[in-house]
Amino acid sequence: MSGIRTLIAGNWKSNKSAEEARAFVKALREGLKEKKRDEREIVVFPPFTSIPAVADELRNSEIGYGAQNVFWETAGAFTGEVSPVFLKELGCRYVIIGHSERRTLFGETDEICNRKMLSSLRTGLRPILCCGETWEQRREEKTFCIIGEQLNAGLHQVPFDAEFDIAYEPVWAIGSGKSATAEQIEVVHSYIHQWLQRKGFASRERVRVIYGGSVTPENVDRLIAVPDVDGVLVGRASLKLESFIRIVDFCCPGEKGASP
Ligand code: PEP
Repeated sequence: MSGIRTLIAGNWKSNKSAEEARAFVKALREGLKEKKRDEREIVVFPPFTSIPAVADELRNSEIGYGAQNVFWETAGAFTGEVSPVFLKELGCRYVIIGHSERRTLFGETDEICNRKMLSSLRTGLRPILCCGETWEQRREEKTFCIIGEQLNAGLHQVPFDAEFDIAYEPVWAIGSGKSATAEQIEVVHSYIHQWLQRKGFASRERVRVIYGGSVTPENVDRLIAVPDVDGVLVGRASLKLESFIRIVDFCCPGEKGASP
């Protein structure tokens, strides 16, 4: 891979019925068709039940889609769980793993995230592993230690040549309307890139590190310009068409990730 494609991912959480999702991606596709965006990869994450409608509407489109969660077993007596094989069959390319809402509201541990990582990779999905500290952990200066632990456990036995992404999402910035500062993001992203390299992962060629936490049309240009930021994971601002299109169309002098 000669250049890195900047990832712009929209996590819709538990929003948009199948018909709402269909209408949204139809309008998104229409709204994005004027320009070529070879250096940007755009992916939306609908709720499970809206994935088929999105898949249908995005046929032959450059816009990708994925799931917000996945189970680690491929089939069996696991009531309510969704196999990675079923997601693959629906054409999902991506899956989000270990979002802080899953960790805090549904008790997902690093070990669970790791099982989901391994099984998604085996199935041919590209996982986005979320990590990030709480405000209290930051105040206690435990940010690097927490992130190091989440990566260590979450990436246990993941092959060094695997293709996946890491989303740095400080828990205190998610849904708070207050993103982390450029300085805070830069040091953590640099730490993650170095951590990956030290462990033997191919780093930037195969693993991007993206930022999430109150990304908006107003701050996206500034956040994307931070060194070591390879994209953004967007919650609330991905639900409105105009704001998501503005985020996709972030301005970055010299286009990040472009081939030299
Ligand atoms: C998220 O939930 O991943 C997220 C980043 O949300 P928001 O953009 O609303 O902070």
